[in-house]
Amino acid sequence: MRRKIALVLCYMLFGAIVNVGIAWGIVAHHGTTFFEWKPYHNPRDGAPVAFFVNRRFGWELVTGCGRPGTLLSRHADEVESYQGMVWWPKASVTFDMRDYAISAGWPMRSMMAWHTLRYTQPDDADYIEFEPHYHRGYPVSSPAYESYVAILPFQPLWIGFCVNTLLYAFGFACLVHGPLIVCRYVRTKKRLCVQCGYSAGDLPVCPECGTQMSC
Ligand SMILES: [Zn+2]
Repeated sequence: MRRKIALVLCYMLFGAIVNVGIAWGIVAHHGTTFFEWKPYHNPRDGAPVAFFVNRRFGWELVTGCGRPGTLLSRHADEVESYQGMVWWPKASVTFDMRDYAISAGWPMRSMMAWHTLRYTQPDDADYIEFEPHYHRGYPVSSPAYESYVAILPFQPLWIGFCVNTLLYAFGFACLVHGPLIVCRYVRTKKRLCVQCGYSAGDLPVCPECGTQMSC
């Protein structure tokens, strides 16, 4: 029993590692490129009232809307309602379009991180400095888009994380045990010994290896 539990845990661990690896791979590939600017009504309370969503395979990036009033008054018919679960933190969708949140994973998006700019005014300076802050993620440069930064997200989106992990764990278990199960099934059907494949006919025990024949 203990061995079985340990085995299941091993598969789950494997599933989780593959899950995170795929999410990171997708993020590393896309970086934080804004492919398109699809406006949505902000499902979160408070400003801004509209925001943008970028979507690619296993990847979604949301960013604030610089001038939501203009967008909503002039292009109201292009602004859609966001369908699905709100996964990004409120702090990531601001009036500054350089702030964003990113999520990735397949088949469900399972990991998330976000980026904000922090403004500071040095003493006696008449300018404002800003520095990027990466929340729940680690910034790396994207091999696909040199000038962009990708964030490897650390924060699980729990539903997606569990679903993906279970799927990969199940897939791996099938790969490992599948052939054996099929082989056992075929041998049982043909009245062959499941251990050695000897044709035991109606005998209760395999005469070759002594294995009990199943009915
Ligand atoms: Zn046998």
